[in-house]
Amino acid sequence: MYEFKLDADELTKYLAWEAAHHVKGVCKYFDDGKSPICPVGAIGGRVTFHFTQTGVGLISTVSCACGAKEDLTNYDLW
Ligand SMILES: [Zn+2]
Repeated sequence: MYEFKLDADELTKYLAWEAAHHVKGVCKYFDDGKSPICPVGAIGGRVTFHFTQTGVGLISTVSCACGAKEDLTNYDLW
């Protein structure tokens, strides 16, 4: 079994990015829960995490369905 997770610093980075990104006028899939139709689709899935194992460490990134991406990697651990 493979298991990937964000460490505390990466989680902090993710939460800050999400708070700044998931804003009306910034993300075209912004959803304040008031629209009768979910902007990103019926089952959601707006945010995707990517984990890339390299020879020196794990690269952790997150992307939004709108195309925005953020590098969450904690390079201090490399
Ligand atoms: Zn977005």
